[in-house]
Amino acid sequence: MIPRRLPAWSLLCAALLPFHADAQESFADCLEQLRGMAATHEIAPATFEQHVGGLEPDMAVIGLLDYQPEFRTPIWDYLAGLVDDERVADGRAMAVQWAGTLQDIEARYGVDPATVVAVWGVESNFGRNFGKRPLLVSLATLSCFGRRQDFFRGEFFTALKIIEDGHVAPQRLAGSWAGAFGHTQFMPSTFRRVAVDFDGDGRRDLIDSVPDALASTANFLREAGWQTGRPWGFEVVLPPDFNAALAGRRNKRALAEWVALGVRRADGSAIEPGTEAAGLLLPAGERGPAFLVLRNFDALYSYNAAESYALAIAHLSDRLRGGEPFRASWPTDDPGLSRAERREVQALLSQLGYDVGEADGVLGARSREAVQQFQRGQGLEPDGRAGRRVLELLRKAYAER
Ligand code: CA
Repeated sequence: MIPRRLPAWSLLCAALLPFHADAQESFADCLEQLRGMAATHEIAPATFEQHVGGLEPDMAVIGLLDYQPEFRTPIWDYLAGLVDDERVADGRAMAVQWAGTLQDIEARYGVDPATVVAVWGVESNFGRNFGKRPLLVSLATLSCFGRRQDFFRGEFFTALKIIEDGHVAPQRLAGSWAGAFGHTQFMPSTFRRVAVDFDGDGRRDLIDSVPDALASTANFLREAGWQTGRPWGFEVVLPPDFNAALAGRRNKRALAEWVALGVRRADGSAIEPGTEAAGLLLPAGERGPAFLVLRNFDALYSYNAAESYALAIAHLSDRLRGGEPFRASWPTDDPGLSRAERREVQALLSQLGYDVGEADGVLGARSREAVQQFQRGQGLEPDGRAGRRVLELLRKAYAER
């Protein structure tokens, strides 16, 4: 959960701002100002002194805040990386490992295990990727420089309060550049609003307690209006000459109306008419997969305010329940790659003498530059995007080297 609609990996290539001595000085002045505000936020002077005294700013986060990606991730790339066979297998293993906890969470909050595990998988790859930036450093920097300082000051003081109340170990409080942390990447204010102590140790620990983190996710979704036992929605097929102007998540109609308009389920089963309203989602326009999305999709959407993000969780949850990939193809002749395939792209580029940095499956700035060089050599448009076509050409180039 980050307060902007950017895929996490697109942020890795943000330019770092140069660090100036005057930034250092104005940071010190700003911390003094924040110190003066601590009492208003019910932070004890000793807490402020212990955890904020002597902090150095991390100006890289300001670059990340202002970074506008010129590289737009197509929805098929986004989903191919987030919902791949590896994540489905990992998610199923986690659902088995945490089965008892997930059952208890469902009983208490009414959110099913597959949905909770899907959020976990998309947010932090099941706890493997929390982000490494010390939260107070990022939030103090964002409180003192750049846009949205008021917003980040609130998050900064809330993070201090979380430490003061002893919910998480201070040295463990690291996360994304924007201050999201733990298994389910809550911002501090989200923590304050919905985090719960599910393992009963008196602390709401989203970093070192999987039960607390998963139950907090379920509580978030319940607060966002989750309808127990209802699906998020389903893939549909549109009739010929369908009026695409009817699409839109918030452009809701009764399911019976969609049926009357000729919309059918992609798997051939009947749409139960019911009274629930649904929006029609066309993530890649009329020629790509289409979905009717219900109230639970809106609950997923509220986690990160991006339809592509909500669709990734929704689809991963279906796959965890044994569901199939989407039936319709994305409108491209160059589909996206799984993380395993992205690692293969990096390994092949590296073998062919290109510099990609670490082969971590994240196609960041260096990987894209290497892809561009390779594309130029192949006489392709050097857009830096690695899809199926680039992977196949790399395999061929490697075999013929
Ligand atoms: Ca706890």
